[in-house]
Amino acid sequence: MSVNQQAHAGPPYGQPQPGYQGYQQPAYGGQPLPAVPQSQYGAYNGPMPGYQQPVPPQGYFPSLGLPSKGSPVSLNSDTSSLAPNFIGSLRAPPTSGAPPPASGASLPSSHLAYSQFGHGDVQNGIPASAAPMPRPPASQPFLPGSAPTPVSQTSTFQQYGPLPASVQQLSNHMAGMTVGSTAASAPPPAGLGYGPSTSVPPVSGSFSATGSGLYTPYTASQGPPPTSVSQGLPLAQPPFPGQPISTQHPPTQVPGFASPPSSTGIGPSSYPPTTGAPRPPAMPGPPLPGQTLAGPPTSQPNHVSSPPPPAALSGPHPGPPLSGLHGPPPSAHPPQPGYQMQQNGSFGQVRGPQPNYGGAYPGTPNYGSQPGPPPPAKRLDPDSIPSPIQVIEDDRSNRGSEPFVTGVRGQVPPLVTTNFLVKDQGNASPRYIRCTSYNIPCTSDMAKQSQVPLAAVIKPLATLPPEEALPYLVDHGESGPVRCNRCKAYMCPFMQFIEGGRRFQCCFCSCVTEVPPHYFQHLDHTGKRVDFYDRPELSLGSYEFLATVDYCKNNKFPSPPAFIFMIDVSYNAVKSGLVRLICEELKSLLDYLPREGNMEESAIRVGFVTYNKVLHFYNVKSSLAQPQMMVVSDVADMFVPLLDGFLVNVNESRTVIASLLDQIPEMFADTRETETLFAPVIQAGLEALKAAECAGKLFIFHTSLPIAEAPGKLKNRDDRKLVNTDKEKALFQPQTSFYNNLAKDCVAQGCCVDLFLFPNQYVDVATLGVVPYQTGGSIYKYAYFQLETDQERFLNDLRRDVQKEVGFDAVMRVRTSTGIRATDFFGAFYMSNTTDVEMAGLDCDKTITVEFKHDDKLSEDSGALLQCALLYTSCAGQRRLRIHNLSLNCCTQLADLYRNCETDTLINYLAKYAYRAVLNSPVKTVRDALVSQCAQILACYRKNCASPSSAGQLILPECMKLLPVYLNCVLKSDVLQPGPEVTTDDRAYIRQLVTSMDVAETNVFFYPRLLPLTKADVDSDALPAAIRNSEERLSKGDIYLLENGLNIFVWVGVNVQQGLIQNLFGVSSFSQISNALSTLPVLDNPFSKKVRSVVDMLRVQRSRYMKLIIVKQEDKLEMLFKHFLVEDKSLSGGASYVDFLCHMHKEIRQLLS
Ligand SMILES: [Zn+2]
Repeated sequence: MSVNQQAHAGPPYGQPQPGYQGYQQPAYGGQPLPAVPQSQYGAYNGPMPGYQQPVPPQGYFPSLGLPSKGSPVSLNSDTSSLAPNFIGSLRAPPTSGAPPPASGASLPSSHLAYSQFGHGDVQNGIPASAAPMPRPPASQPFLPGSAPTPVSQTSTFQQYGPLPASVQQLSNHMAGMTVGSTAASAPPPAGLGYGPSTSVPPVSGSFSATGSGLYTPYTASQGPPPTSVSQGLPLAQPPFPGQPISTQHPPTQVPGFASPPSSTGIGPSSYPPTTGAPRPPAMPGPPLPGQTLAGPPTSQPNHVSSPPPPAALSGPHPGPPLSGLHGPPPSAHPPQPGYQMQQNGSFGQVRGPQPNYGGAYPGTPNYGSQPGPPPPAKRLDPDSIPSPIQVIEDDRSNRGSEPFVTGVRGQVPPLVTTNFLVKDQGNASPRYIRCTSYNIPCTSDMAKQSQVPLAAVIKPLATLPPEEALPYLVDHGESGPVRCNRCKAYMCPFMQFIEGGRRFQCCFCSCVTEVPPHYFQHLDHTGKRVDFYDRPELSLGSYEFLATVDYCKNNKFPSPPAFIFMIDVSYNAVKSGLVRLICEELKSLLDYLPREGNMEESAIRVGFVTYNKVLHFYNVKSSLAQPQMMVVSDVADMFVPLLDGFLVNVNESRTVIASLLDQIPEMFADTRETETLFAPVIQAGLEALKAAECAGKLFIFHTSLPIAEAPGKLKNRDDRKLVNTDKEKALFQPQTSFYNNLAKDCVAQGCCVDLFLFPNQYVDVATLGVVPYQTGGSIYKYAYFQLETDQERFLNDLRRDVQKEVGFDAVMRVRTSTGIRATDFFGAFYMSNTTDVEMAGLDCDKTITVEFKHDDKLSEDSGALLQCALLYTSCAGQRRLRIHNLSLNCCTQLADLYRNCETDTLINYLAKYAYRAVLNSPVKTVRDALVSQCAQILACYRKNCASPSSAGQLILPECMKLLPVYLNCVLKSDVLQPGPEVTTDDRAYIRQLVTSMDVAETNVFFYPRLLPLTKADVDSDALPAAIRNSEERLSKGDIYLLENGLNIFVWVGVNVQQGLIQNLFGVSSFSQISNALSTLPVLDNPFSKKVRSVVDMLRVQRSRYMKLIIVKQEDKLEMLFKHFLVEDKSLSGGASYVDFLCHMHKEIRQLLS
C-alpha cells in the first residue's frame, strides 16, 4: 500500500483534487460574507475524498451510567431564582438559601463522580450512590498572586539576547555622532523621532535633519550598476564644520530612475549656494493641530480602547511647522542643478520640513547644535526614496502572470502582495514557508558579517486558493512513513536512492538507510525511482502521511476533538446583549463545525458552560426533554460535575441544545453579578476534555478582569507611568505564573483556548492571553462592545474561528541539513524542549517563525534543506503528519545573499523578535537594537557588494530597499512606541497578534494599504492603485480607504463633491456624514456598489473581520487615522520615513568609517 488510492485516482499532482475544495470555506474563500449566516457556511469537505477513518473513536462516552437522573444540583442563589423551570424535575428545588459559594466543606452529591474521572479507566456518568464525596474545604490554601509574579521563563518567552551588534555598539555610534560642546551634556536622543517624546527641539537654531542638508548629485555611473543595487540615494554629508565632505565617487546607476546627467567628479565645491527657502510640502499643507487634535476619538479601532488623556491632545509637537527653527539653509550644498532633470524632475529635490516635524531625528540630537550658521534644513523629496507602492506594483506586473513553479532550488517567490499561483514541483509553496533569504551564507562568519537573520516563516496549515492542490495524503499502512534511521527525517524529494534502490542516503544527515521491502522500487537510468511521479513524498514539496498508532498519545488513536463554548453571563455581558447574541448565533453556527472529507456531519462534539463567579455546566444529552444545569461554586479545585451529556453530537442533541440556547439569555437576564473568574473556566474545559480523553478547543467569551475569589484571580496593575521606563516590560508580562502552569497542562491535553474579549476597561490581556497564546489559540478583542456597531465584526470573527481548519495536539519539528539548525522559535505555542514546538491547537492562520544558525560550513553544491514536520490530529480525529520541504542555495559571496533576500519576511522576523524582546528589555533598548542591526545589514552590503562610491551616498540592495521604511513602521508601532491613546491592553493584544502573523499580515499591518476610492474604476473588479501612506498624498477632494488587517478607515476630504457624498453616504453634505457609521449604507449606484465591494474584497483577504471607521477630514477621529499614515512623523514621536532614512544613512556611515 502506498499512496492513498484516492490520490492516484485523481488528476496528476498540481491539479486540484476532486472533492478537495473543502478547505476553502466559500464564505471566506473569495466572496464577501453575505449578511445571512445560513447561506454562507460552506461545507467543510475535508482533505481527501473517501477517506476512511482508521479507528473509531475510542474511550469516549460508552454511556455506562445514567447519572443525571436524580443528580442533585448545587445552585447558587442567583441562577436558582432565575430558572425555576429550567432544570425541571431533576433539579433540586430552588433554594435561595443555598450554601454560599466557596464556604462549604463538602459538596453536594452532584460532585460525586469527580474522583472517578481522573482515572485511566473512565467511568462515564455519576455513580448511583449518593454518598457525599468529601471535598477539601473550599478555603484550602490557594495563594494566587502571593508569589512575586515571576515571569515564568518558558521557552516561549526566551531570554532576549542582545542583537548581535547590540546597543552598546549603537550608543557608541551615537556618541560618535555628537558634535560640539553640547554633546556631553545634552540629553539623550530627544523624543523627536525616536526617543521619549517629551523634549523640545533644540532651540539653538541649529536643528537639522541629518543628511537633509545637501545632496550629492546623482551622477550616472559609467560602468554597469553594482550587483543588485537599485537604489542609489545620494544623501548629504553632514555639514557640520570640520568634517570634510568626502569626494563623490561615481555614483550608482539606479534602475527605474532616469540616468542623471553625467557630471562626474562633483565635489562639495560644485554645489551652488542655496538661496531659496525650503520647499513647502506639496500637498494639503500642514495639518490643523488645533482641529485635528481637538478631542478624543469617539470610536476607536479595536486595538485602541481608551480615549487619550487630555495631555495627549496637544500632542508632542502639535505646533505649526517649525520652519522658523529650521530656517533656510544659508550655506551648505544644495542640489546640483543637473539632478533636477531626473525622472519626473523630482528626484532628490529638497523640501521644507514636514508639517509637525518638530525636530531632527533624535539619533542626532546634538548634531549641528553648535553655534554658527544653522545647517541646512533641506529634505529629501519623498518621491526620490524607495517607494513601497512602486516595489509592490513592479512585482505584480513582473511576477503576477506566471505561476510560481517550485522545482528550482533557492528561488525567491513573488511578494506576498502579488497574486500568483503556485505549482509544487518539489519545494513547499511560499504559502507554507517563506524565508528571509533563499541563498544563505556558507559560513557563520559570513552570516555574522552580514547580520542578515536566517529565518523561515512557516504556516503549516495555510489555506490555499481553490486553484491549488492541497497536500496529498500518503498512507503507508501499518509500517508508517519511511524515515531516516538516524535523524528521523521523513522521506522527501531530496533523499538519494542508491544501490539500485535498495538503500537511500539522507539529505539531512547523510546516513544511509535500508529501503523497507514494501517500499522498494527500481531506479531509472538517471538514478530516479521509476515511481517518482506517483509518490507525493518523492516529487512534491508538501504532502501528508497518515500517522500510525506509534504517533499517538499513549499509543492510542485519538478521539475526535470537542468544542466547548464558555459564556460569561455576568452583568456587563448580559446587559450589552452579548449573551443573547452568542446564543442566537450558536444555534446556526453549530451546524457548520469543521468536517473532514466526505463526512456528512462533523465529528466534533460540543459542550456548554456559562459562568460569572461560579460555573454552570449543562447536560444536553439527546434523551433529555430539557437541558439540565449543574452549578459548581467551589472553584478552588475545578472539576466537571457531569460527563455523560456534557459533550454531545450536535445533530443528536439538536433540540436540547436549541432549548438551552434559548433559555440562557432568559436565565441571566436579571443578573446583578458583576464579578467574574477566569482560570477556573479554562480548568473546567480542560477537565472536561481530560475526562473525555480528547483534544479540543475552548471558546471563551469574557468581559472583565477576573477579580472573583478563585484561582487565577487578578488585580488591576495597569500603570501607564511605566511607559518609557525600564519597568515598562512588566506591562507585557503576566502578573502571575499561574496561567503559565495552566497553559502547560492545557498543551499536554491538547486543549486549545480561543478567547473573545469584550472589555470596558483594563482586563490585563497580558495575563489573560497567556493560555490562548501558549496553546496556539487566538485572542479577539472588542473594546466597548456595542451590539449595533460591533456585532457584525464579532459574528464574522466567531463564524470564521469556529469553522476554520484546525489541527489539534500538534507538534512541529524543523529538521535541517548539516551545517545549520533551528535555534529559535516565535509564535503562539509552548516548548518543553529546544526542538519541538507544541500547540494544543494549530489553525490555518497561525504562523511559526523559525530562526536558523550555522553549526558548520555549508556547501554551494549541496545547498541547505529544511523539513518541517507537523504531527497533528485532524478535526475528525485522524492522526497525520504534514511535511513541508524547502531547499535553499548557499553562497560564498555576500552579493548572492543580498540578491536573494525577502524584506517582507525579514520584517516579519524582526517584528517578532522585537515584540518578544520587550518582555525582558526596555523598549528603547529594543528599538535601538533593531536600528543597529539593520544599519549593519545595509553597511555590510555597502562595504562588500556595492561598487565604490562616496560614503555620502546611500546605496541599498535591491531586495532590501524597503527595509528602512518598513523597519521604521515597526519601530513606531504601538508596541514599541505607543501614542498616548494606546492602552496597555492594546499593546499586549497587538504584541500577541503580531507574533502569530504571516508575512502578508505583517506587511499590511506595518505598512497599511491606502486606496483612493474616488479613483476606482466602477466598471472593473480591480482595486484602485494604492498610494503611499502620507498625508501629503491625500487630496481634499477625494475619498480614501486605508486598511491594516484589523481596521478599515474611509477618509473623506472636506472638498469632496456633493454628488459623491450623496452616492456613498446617502446624505447631502459633508457635515451630515455621521462618523458613528460602522457600515456603509447600501445604495443603488455604481460608486456605492464599488466601494462596498472593495471593502468586502479586502475583508475576505484578512483573517479577521476588519472594523470600518469613517473619518472626516479635520474631524477629531482624524488623529487616529493619521497614526496609520506611516511615512509621516507620528504624534507618538515616530520619525517620518524621510528622517528615518537619513538616520539610517548616518548609522551606516558611522559603521563604514
Ligand atoms: Zn538523516
